[in-house]
Amino acid sequence: MKPNLSKIINLLSTQGHQQYGGEAVTQLEHALQCATLAEAAGASEEMITACLFHDLGHLLHNWGEDVADRGIDSRHEYLALGWLRSLFSPQVTEPIRLHVEAKRYLCATDLSYYDSLSPASQQSLELQGGIFSTKEAKEFINLSFAEDALQLRKWDEQAKVPNLQTPTLTHFMQISAKVATG
Ligand code: FE
Repeated sequence: MKPNLSKIINLLSTQGHQQYGGEAVTQLEHALQCATLAEAAGASEEMITACLFHDLGHLLHNWGEDVADRGIDSRHEYLALGWLRSLFSPQVTEPIRLHVEAKRYLCATDLSYYDSLSPASQQSLELQGGIFSTKEAKEFINLSFAEDALQLRKWDEQAKVPNLQTPTLTHFMQISAKVATG
């Protein structure tokens, strides 16, 4: 396996026990559930990989698991990007980069979406800049990979089920290795 991919997998397997913000799952459970939803929906290997690694940035900062409770936006969607870009195409990295903006977009365009968010996700939304204005929403949806980011976001919100059985990290690592280019 490519050395950088080994490092990323190692980070998930050694630090993935951290709680996922205020949710009832760990970071690793969240990543595996998100990738499982993508695979079950017949998504591309790039999208499955994006789902697996979309929150990697949460494992790269030292502000602690309760960072949002302390009113800090860790800007986690950007923290792992350099690393991920050394390994993957924009098909993988752009949905990750845009997955927080996707939440801001969905809240602006779908009235029921905000209510469907978990309390932790509603709280972090404010720190992340809040609901998009009409102008911001228009700009977002015209970006390349905006649709993929919206799809990732929807699986992201569903991937918070306590004690759900999923395929293993090894299973998804094999899929990621196939689309790794760096
Ligand atoms: Fe997430």
